[in-house]
Amino acid sequence: MVDALRHRGISDEAVLAAMAAVPRHFFLDKDFVEHAYEDKAFPIACDQTISQPFTVAYQTVLLNIKNGDRVLEIGTGSGYQAAILAALGAKVFTVERQEGLYFQTKKLLDELGFKTVKCFFRDGSKGLAEKAPFDKIIVTAGAPVVPEPLKAQLAMGGILVIPVGESVQRMMKITRISATEFQEERLENFRFVPFLEGVSRK
Ligand code: SAH
Repeated sequence: MVDALRHRGISDEAVLAAMAAVPRHFFLDKDFVEHAYEDKAFPIACDQTISQPFTVAYQTVLLNIKNGDRVLEIGTGSGYQAAILAALGAKVFTVERQEGLYFQTKKLLDELGFKTVKCFFRDGSKGLAEKAPFDKIIVTAGAPVVPEPLKAQLAMGGILVIPVGESVQRMMKITRISATEFQEERLENFRFVPFLEGVSRK
C-alpha cells in the first residue's frame, strides 16, 4: 500500500511511516479485510465509507502534523484517519454524526489503545467549540460550503483541510493568517460521502 502511495506522488516520509505503522485491516468490515491494503475506499457501517488510503495520505500531508498538535476531525467513520493523525503525534478530537458508527469506532480505538483520540457524537458543522482552538482541522465528508464555525475555531496559523462541492469536491487548504484573514488554496478533485447536518440515531 505504501509503495502505491509513493507511486501516486506521496513523498512525506512521516506520513508514509504512519500509514505503514497503523494496520488498516482493523478498521474495515470483516467482509473486506482481505482487501485492506488496496488503495480503495470500502463500505463501513451506516452506509458510510472508509476513505481511500491515497485520500487519507493527501489530506494528512496538507495538515503538516507536528507532535502535540490539537487536531479536530469531522467525520470519524472507521477511525482510520484519526488513528493516522494520532500515530503522527496529534491530540485528536473526532466528531461523528452517525450514532452507530460513533459507538463502534470509539470502542475500537479504545481497544487498539489510541489514548490520544477522543470521540464525540454530534453534528460537526458547528465544530467543537469547547475544545477550540485547534492547530489543524480536517473534514472527511464532502461539504457544500465551508462551515464558518470551523474557520472560527482555528488557532492563528492553523490549517483547515476540507473537500468542498456537491457531487465532486475540490480539496481546499485554508490557513488562518490573522483574526480576520484566511489564505485559501484550491487543490485537486475528490469524491467523498456527503457532509450532512444534524445527527442520525439509526
Ligand atoms: N475519516 C473517516 C471517513 C469516513 S466517511 C475514515 O477514516 O474512515 C465520512 C464520515 O463523515 C461519515 O461517517 C459521516 O457519517 C460523517 N459525517 C458527515 N457529515 C458529518 C457532520 N456534519 N458531522 C459529523 N460527521 C459527519
